[in-house]
Amino acid sequence: MDLPCPGCDDGTQLHAWPLRAHDPTAPHVAACTTCGGVWVRPNVLETLVTEAARQVCGDAEPQRASLSTAGPVVYRRCPECGVSMQRKNFAGVSGTLVDVCGQHGTYFDHDELPHVLAFVKSGGLALAERVDRRERARNAKRPQFIPYGQPGTDMGYADPNDWHHDATTEFVAWAADVLHDA
Ligand SMILES: [Zn+2]
Ligand SMILES: [Zn+2]
Repeated sequence: MDLPCPGCDDGTQLHAWPLRAHDPTAPHVAACTTCGGVWVRPNVLETLVTEAARQVCGDAEPQRASLSTAGPVVYRRCPECGVSMQRKNFAGVSGTLVDVCGQHGTYFDHDELPHVLAFVKSGGLALAERVDRRERARNAKRPQFIPYGQPGTDMGYADPNDWHHDATTEFVAWAADVLHDA
């Protein structure tokens, strides 16, 4: 693996990191030992989120992080293709902002991946699906206007122009279907 860390952006290299120690067949992520950032390919992220979603129990209240919009937005570059990644609120409502290359994967800052998986384990995908349905219905009525970042709402899509083509949202819908079939 020869990938630069998008968080450090100074040539620091990511290191292959198996998700289960002592299991060479386990999926790998790429981690930065300097800043703690983690780069996850789409198929590995699916595996992780699906495993976390299987552990949802009861009617626990989803654990959302409070979306931090403080400070300037920094667009990181994909370590595989170098294109500027999109900044997205994971699953639309988790409150965790991640950097996404639609082709290659998702970059999580230090501590963000555990937060996202805790959000999924606490039932976050069902919440994301409910909010997504509500927003689709709302936008069907008002196709010209997509509310963005209004306080007190469940919005917070990092990019209001492409939320309905948001691969993360599509993936959440897929994961929610898997849950319903289980
Ligand atoms: Zn780094
Ligand atoms: Zn890329």
